[in-house]
Amino acid sequence: MRFSSCYIPTLKESPADAEVISHKLLLRAGMVRRLTSGLYIYLPLGLKVMEKIAGIVREEMNAAGFQELLMPMVQPGDLWKETGRWEHYGKELLRFKDRNEREYCLGPTHEEVITDLVRGEVRSYRQLPVRLYQIQSKFRDEIRPRFGLMRGREFMMKDAYSFDADSAGAEQSYKLMYDAYTRIFSRLGLRFRAVEADTGSIGGNFSHEFMVLADTGEDTIAFCHNCDYAANVERAEVTWQGEACAAACPPCEKVATPGAHSVEEVANMLHAPAASIVKTMLLTVDGKTVAVLVRGDREVNAVKLKNLLKAQDAELAGAAVVEGLTHAPVGFAGPIGLSVPVYADFELQGGTDYIVGANAADAHFRHVDLRRDATITAWADLRAITPEDVCPRCGGRIELTRGIEVGHIFMLGLKYSEAMHAAFLDETGKEKLMIMGCYGIGVSRVAAAAIEQNHDQNGIVFPPPLAPFTCILLNLDPRNAEVNARAEAIYALLREMDVDVLLDDRDERPGVKFKDADLLGVPMQLVVGGKGLARGIVECKDRRSGEKGELSVENLARDFSAWAAAVRNGWEKQQGPERSGPAL
Ligand code: ATP
Ligand code: MG
Repeated sequence: MRFSSCYIPTLKESPADAEVISHKLLLRAGMVRRLTSGLYIYLPLGLKVMEKIAGIVREEMNAAGFQELLMPMVQPGDLWKETGRWEHYGKELLRFKDRNEREYCLGPTHEEVITDLVRGEVRSYRQLPVRLYQIQSKFRDEIRPRFGLMRGREFMMKDAYSFDADSAGAEQSYKLMYDAYTRIFSRLGLRFRAVEADTGSIGGNFSHEFMVLADTGEDTIAFCHNCDYAANVERAEVTWQGEACAAACPPCEKVATPGAHSVEEVANMLHAPAASIVKTMLLTVDGKTVAVLVRGDREVNAVKLKNLLKAQDAELAGAAVVEGLTHAPVGFAGPIGLSVPVYADFELQGGTDYIVGANAADAHFRHVDLRRDATITAWADLRAITPEDVCPRCGGRIELTRGIEVGHIFMLGLKYSEAMHAAFLDETGKEKLMIMGCYGIGVSRVAAAAIEQNHDQNGIVFPPPLAPFTCILLNLDPRNAEVNARAEAIYALLREMDVDVLLDDRDERPGVKFKDADLLGVPMQLVVGGKGLARGIVECKDRRSGEKGELSVENLARDFSAWAAAVRNGWEKQQGPERSGPAL
């Protein structure tokens, strides 16, 4: 393709509303434009990147024996009522009515539609397994659409579904997808890790997320140095190894703590370590308020609470709820005399003589023994894992790192087949429910995650498999007949060699061309200029390493192939052998 005839509106400055680097660079490189909150237009180059990602996804899905289909984005509300998700999915589900007052939603995921399809067609175990996928726009009315393609409202997803006759088959389907995902993210040239994950609003028995490792990721991953264990911190189990504290505790007494709302302020005022303070958090769980106690230096894990209470939703209670229950401003809640269920983290059993909020303004209690002075509804694992904790599998050292969730696979079990009665007759003629799995990849988020992981101060550094072009050929002097003729000849040669090449033939200064080439992140740059040609060479630059070299014009095909292999090699080395974690 020729730059002069492409629509590649690059920008010199970062748009002010772009918060993360992938968003800034996608805008600056002329790959996307924002239509409105969470809705993006993929410009030609951005679309090319998405198609490259989708191409690899498609190849690996087909290789795993899944077949592509395409379902409507608009879905009838009745199906969602069958599974109960019409009520439970929350505001992310965009609902509307047609001219006949029938209810619909825009598909955030397609379990209901595909289960409806399969239950209507499959009667016998002989027709199973059914393994299907699609690549399509999804819509989720996210509370906080942000970070560009990372968290859009409309975004591109590959979603796959499996229906099996028995659990051995279902496990095989799951493993096929786990392995396919491992190959997809390896082939895309990304550093990633598969981790155990929470099942969220999709539900089911267990799941794995695929995380692109990047400091800017929204997720935190815990992994063990000793064994294969890796999990999203939302999910990572904390094993409490201590013993219940038997020490005596002096009688509880109220102390004045004027203006001390936070753990830190209380710790300073009472000269006590944060670990001797109990943090009381009030959360609203499916509309009901509960209290959660964790040590002052810990964080409550709302996902663990939600799972403990088998709830759909858990979020921090608003100030009005806190003030109503504690008769005090936020910051003075405590478990003593509180009229809601109190769940305490296991670890608190290991101590006594705690400081807790007094449910009164500007006051705390000290010398608190939780068993003696408070009513604890249940003790449970309710806090997020930290590097001080040990691996729940082997006791090894735990490390935390950041990641971006690009894929998520779920063993759904009978959740949808039961609700929607997707049944078949087994060998003996007995009716059984199908065992399902579902498997998603955020195709558009992959593009953003690849950039979060691979960029420098000059722009994007695309891994070759998803770059919009493999090579950019800079014609430094299009007005010079000789340079022009050479550039055209090299362009023709590269195309003959099947190289996906962009010829920068614009009538622009060399500086502009160099800057744009770096910004677009094309892995290989070739520079055709008068000086080089006089010496019989074109200059080459590896965008990733910045290494420059020279290719002979005379032996260009040979030199180019050798250089291309070296560039690919550099990428593979950087990706490293242990990028993906264990096989399932
Ligand atoms: P998140 O926790 O990031 O909100 P999720 O767990 O709700 O995502 P899934 O239901 O597992 O997402 O969807 C499958 C995949 O779709 C995710 O792994 C992610 O890559 C992608 N995805 C989900 N929500 C978005 C979004 N708002 N924008 C872009 N991609 C998304
Ligand atoms: Mg997910």
